Amino acid sequence: MIVIDEKKIFNEITKRKPVSVAINGPDGILPKVQETASKIMKRFGIPAYVLADTTWGSCDLNSNSAKVLGTEILFHIGHTISMETFDDNVVMIDAFDDITFDKVTRKCIEILKGKSVSLITDSQHLHQVDTVKEILTKEGIQVKIGKGKGQLNDAQVFGCEFYPAMETKDEVDVNVFLGQSNFHAVGIALATNKPTYVLDPYFNEVKEITEFAQKIQKKATLAIYKASEAETFGIIVGLKEGQLSKITALKFKRELEKEGKTVQLFALTDITNDRLRNLKGIDAFIQVACPRISTDNHFEKPLLSTPQANALLKILRNESIEGYLQIPHWL
Ligand code: SF4
Repeated sequence: MIVIDEKKIFNEITKRKPVSVAINGPDGILPKVQETASKIMKRFGIPAYVLADTTWGSCDLNSNSAKVLGTEILFHIGHTISMETFDDNVVMIDAFDDITFDKVTRKCIEILKGKSVSLITDSQHLHQVDTVKEILTKEGIQVKIGKGKGQLNDAQVFGCEFYPAMETKDEVDVNVFLGQSNFHAVGIALATNKPTYVLDPYFNEVKEITEFAQKIQKKATLAIYKASEAETFGIIVGLKEGQLSKITALKFKRELEKEGKTVQLFALTDITNDRLRNLKGIDAFIQVACPRISTDNHFEKPLLSTPQANALLKILRNESIEGYLQIPHWL
């Protein structure tokens, strides 16, 4: 069950006395966010708007929507980072999953016997890392915890940022991801190029995700080679506040034009196949927002993320693209 740090929310409201607030979080915890919003309204007698648009990460807070609504504070739930806030009107609130990993950890011991492992997780399960480490260590399994960097805590990864996993990759045989998120585990497997297991405490299941990750990499590589035959490129700047990357977009424009390509510039909030269908005369797209939009979704025309676009430039210059995803940050 997800437990939201409501105490921090209530303290903040008591201290700052806002006239209205907004609150949001990832889709998976929206029902809990709704409950918290109801509690705020009941306890403080102020409007608490649930921002129900998607929010995929601390890069996609929707704080502008909170300002448009005229709310003084946005409580952003569930994307725990090592920083307290980005903006005056945003307060980051932790949400932890209280499920334990004891059972599923015991289940993976046979598989991990004799191996050294890197323990990695997402924000919701960070508080379980030490307990799992203790269980595995008692069984003679060597456990490493990679150091956080930037917004990342120790052992934590985002879908595009893998510093703790990259720090330990040369010292371990496998990665072990705590949680249900294949999304994060696939990123770890691709960035580290190591076998990666998912410990799912809800289904009490140990899954190896390595093969699935390799399929995603093949699809991503195919898109790069298809794009290398394109003459006209559409470069898309994402309009989500933490994903705005005009400098990178203009760099790709310059580099592609040097290679004799034609480039148009676009800007989109949600980059979907349906939106791209409206754009005519483009052979291939590059988007410099969330890299996982390109790697994890299907598009009719090649849509390259930043690391794929860097690889494309290498292909156009007859250079090797080996290891193009084996980097700690895909942006
Ligand atoms: S850019 Fe994408 S993968 Fe990276 S943190 Fe944001 S939503 Fe997650």
